[in-house]
Amino acid sequence: MNIQNYINGQFHNPASNDWIDNYCPANGKVYGQIPNSSKADVENAYIAAKSTFPTWSQTTLEARSRILIKISELLETNLQRFAEAESKDNGKPVSLAKTIDIPRAASNFRFFGNAITQFASESHESVGLDAINYTLRQPIGVVGCISPWNLPLYLFTWKIAPAIAAGNCVVAKPSEVTPMTAYLLGEICTEAGLPKGVLNIVHGLGTTTGQAIIEHPDIKAISFTGGTTTGAHIAKVAAPLFKKLSLELGGKNPNIIFADCDYDDMLETTVRSSFANQGQICLCGSRIFVEASIYKKFKTDFIKKVKQLKVGHPSKEDTNIGALVSKPHLEKVMQYIAIAKEENGMILCGGNKMTITGYENGYYLEPTVIEVSTDECRVNQEEIFGPVVTMMPFNTEDDALQIANKVKYGLSATLWTNNLKRSMRMSNQLQSGIVWVNTWMLRDLRTPFGGIKASGIGREGGFEALRFFTEAKNVCIKY
Ligand code: NAD
Repeated sequence: MNIQNYINGQFHNPASNDWIDNYCPANGKVYGQIPNSSKADVENAYIAAKSTFPTWSQTTLEARSRILIKISELLETNLQRFAEAESKDNGKPVSLAKTIDIPRAASNFRFFGNAITQFASESHESVGLDAINYTLRQPIGVVGCISPWNLPLYLFTWKIAPAIAAGNCVVAKPSEVTPMTAYLLGEICTEAGLPKGVLNIVHGLGTTTGQAIIEHPDIKAISFTGGTTTGAHIAKVAAPLFKKLSLELGGKNPNIIFADCDYDDMLETTVRSSFANQGQICLCGSRIFVEASIYKKFKTDFIKKVKQLKVGHPSKEDTNIGALVSKPHLEKVMQYIAIAKEENGMILCGGNKMTITGYENGYYLEPTVIEVSTDECRVNQEEIFGPVVTMMPFNTEDDALQIANKVKYGLSATLWTNNLKRSMRMSNQLQSGIVWVNTWMLRDLRTPFGGIKASGIGREGGFEALRFFTEAKNVCIKY
């Protein structure tokens, strides 16, 4: 099946007629093609967005809200179709796409459809100077949204929804590895009555289509989620053009487990935070640190549970772990397993590719647990982004804090303890944008979301996102 660009409310082939193969990770077969859009396609998308901006930015908040909520409802109506498409494109279990990815994409539109009706600006009375200041929050104009392959529609819509809710028009590019649900979203937007040109979706490689978006002199803001190296490149290109930037990048998140935690809850959640979505979530707790007094017990119990996870075809109901997203990604993850062995890491379970009968060319890998003797080894420092976690014991709270913070990343951290003072002390000192205590990935869309250090700049979520997608203009009136 061939995917097309969605520009000015209509589907188009790429101007250059340049196409890329789209693979199904579950069987390794090409099942369609996607445009590798050029500068000309991005320019067409920009022109459509620019010409609609004067009308869309003046559309009432109620009318915008109604359309966003309609998109949300249509996604819910089409849940099964979208979940199957997401699974086929990405390799994740259909059950996961059906319970997490697509419902969350629908929530993104509903949430920002509601949030925009509550978004307010400030006023300041300059007492003694006979003046009043009020702050306008004006949409930026045409903005660019670029997203990765791990949570395709979920993260694509996490950017698009606040951008259009705030009155911007968008040129958006999903990952070329997982373009399908972004393609289907175009149909939904048309059906929901989104005026043509408000959202334009161009497909293609980062180095061609993505590059054309970030270099475009009149696309005034870029909201990007993806790898840290790509983020650094985008920052370099965008800086001299003075674009507003939001960068949500990689992570190497610590999962710190103290002996006084609720053990069963911790164990079950740790299996999830290690391997959900084949470990391909930027928030996965890929470094597990366990207090020495329970290390042995944890190791036995954790390995037992991990071995029970079923790797299988994504469409099967009982599959816990589907296929990795692509062949190059599977090879990258396998390389890290080889590095772990070279570094004297102990493979406690997994470590091998898997063959699923009937789908022999799919990209399957056993969930892998590596015991490391030092936090400084490469598998403990570099983002692997697959079903691979490391574990090691720690002795004191200070030790745990030190090793948790001793990476270049700072996205999220998970802490398991029932000691209130310790949880507050550590939450204050953990170097990450998000800390979960006694839970993982519990999301409230109003909260700021993002990382520090090499995990990015800026925050998404709630009013933070609406602030990013607007320019503040202060008006001072003397009376
Ligand atoms: P990636 O950086 O390779 O690609 C992300 C997107 O950027 C894709 O759409 C790609 O085509 C585009 N791109 C690549 N080069 C570009 C360029 N020169 N100009 C413009 N766009 C370009 O990342 P990926 O492999 O798709 O995703 C995995 C990474 O994303 C991991 O590092 C993961 O941690 C990160 N991630 C972060 C978050 C977060 O919220 N912090 C969430 C999910 C994923």
